[in-house]
Amino acid sequence: MAYSEFWNPKNETLPREQLQALQLLKLRRLCEWAYATTPFHQRKFDAAGFKPEQLKTLDDLRRIPFMTREEWMESLQEKPLFGDMLATDPRNAIRYHLTSGTTGRTPIRVLDSMKDWDWINEMWCYGLWGFGIRPEDSVYFAFGYGSFIGFWGAHYACEKIGALVIPGGAQTTEARIKQIIEMGVTTVCSTPTYALHMWQKAREMGIDLAKESKVNKVILSGEPAGSIPAVKQQLEEAWGAKCGDTAGMTEVGKCGDTAGMTEVGTIMIFECSHQPGGTHIIEDHYIEEVLHPTSDKPVGYGELGERVVTSFGRGFIPVLRYRTKDMVMKVPASTCTCGRTWDIYSGGIRGRWDDMKLIRGTNVYPRAVEAIIREYPAIDEFQIYIWRKEELQDEITIKLEIKPGHEGEWAELQHKLAKDLSNAHEGLRFNIERMDYGVLPHFELKARRLVDARPVAHY
Ligand SMILES: [Zn+2]
Repeated sequence: MAYSEFWNPKNETLPREQLQALQLLKLRRLCEWAYATTPFHQRKFDAAGFKPEQLKTLDDLRRIPFMTREEWMESLQEKPLFGDMLATDPRNAIRYHLTSGTTGRTPIRVLDSMKDWDWINEMWCYGLWGFGIRPEDSVYFAFGYGSFIGFWGAHYACEKIGALVIPGGAQTTEARIKQIIEMGVTTVCSTPTYALHMWQKAREMGIDLAKESKVNKVILSGEPAGSIPAVKQQLEEAWGAKCGDTAGMTEVGKCGDTAGMTEVGTIMIFECSHQPGGTHIIEDHYIEEVLHPTSDKPVGYGELGERVVTSFGRGFIPVLRYRTKDMVMKVPASTCTCGRTWDIYSGGIRGRWDDMKLIRGTNVYPRAVEAIIREYPAIDEFQIYIWRKEELQDEITIKLEIKPGHEGEWAELQHKLAKDLSNAHEGLRFNIERMDYGVLPHFELKARRLVDARPVAHY
C-alpha cells in the first residue's frame, strides 16, 4: 500500500511565508490565553510592558519575556504544588506524573489534560511517520514505563498510526531480546545507551541482532547521542537497521528538573527517513529560536546558539520563550531532500551551554569530545575526567577501556586519540589513560560519562 511520506502533508510542506503567518496567528492566541489565565505570565508580561496586541509580525516575538528554569522553580516553591503557572483548573487533569527526584531534590509534579496527551501523541506521530513507521510495523518499547516517561507518547502515537505496539515493560534485557526476535519486531524505541546495551547483551547470548531479528528501524530518544555520527553508525551496524533521532528538551529526562513539567513526554524535533544529518523542527506546533547565549540576539543559519522554545500545544502550562540551554545550529529545510519546509537542527542537539568546561582557557564540550572518541571502534567504555594537578593546573584525562580482542591497538590508539582531541581543542593536552576492562561504570539507560573532580566546579 502506498502511503504519503508525510503525517500531515499540508503543514509539513507549507511554504515558509504561510508557515510563519500560521505561527504568528497561534502565537497571538497563545499570549492572549496566557495573559488571561496564568498569574505567572500576567506578572511577567506586565513587568516587561508587553501586551499580546503588540504582536504584528513574527519579529515582535522578541518583546515577550523569556521563561527560565530558575523562575519556574521559584514559583513552585512559593505556591506548592504547581506554582502559579496553571492556565486551567487542576480538576481538568486526566494524568498526574511524579518524577522520581534524586535524593534530596524536589520531585516534579506533572499534570496533563486530555488535550495535552492528544497533542503529545500527535507530535510523536509526525516524527515516527516521518521516519517510516507504518501500520504494518511491530514496534517494541524497550523501556520500563516508569518515571522516565519519554516513550509513553510514542507508544500512543504508534497505536494512532495503527502499528502493533509491544510494551517491553519491566523485564530483563535478555527477556526483551528474546521477545524482539520471537515477535518479529520491525521497530525498536530506545535510548541510544540502552540500544547499545541490548546489542552487547545479545552478543553475549550468542545472538546477532542484525541477522536474527527483523528490526529495520530504531527510534532513539532521551539522550543527545542519537545524532553523533559515529554512535549512529555503530548502532546501525549493530542492529542492521536505520537509526532515527528524536528529541524534546534535553532536560526532560533529568530527574528534578522543572523543564520536565513543560514538555515531558513529547518531541519537538525529529529525523526524517532521508536522514539529512539532523532533525526537522515541528514548526507548525513550535517556534524554535536560536539566540546568542549571552547577548540574546538571534544568530543566523549555520551558527551555534541557544535554543529557545515556544510551544503551541500545552493545555495546562503556557510555554513561551523557554530558555533550554541546549546548544543547536539551524540550517534551512532545503538541506534535506524530503520536501518538508521545516528547518533542521544540523547534528541535532549538540550539547548544553552549561555543560561547557573551561580547561586552561580552552572551552571543552563533552559531546564534542565524545564524538571524537566514538571514531575509535576499539574503545568500549570511557570517562572524561577533569581534575586539578598540585592545586594549580587543570587537567583533562580520558579514561578508557579497550574492547576485548583489540588490545594490540592500544599503543597506536593512545597516541592518535590524544592528537585528534588536541587538534580539535586549540592544542589543549589530553591525557589518555587505559583502564582494566570492566572498571568504568557501564550504563544501561542513560549515560553519564563526565566527572569534574576539581575542588571548585567550574562552569
Ligand atoms: Zn527531511
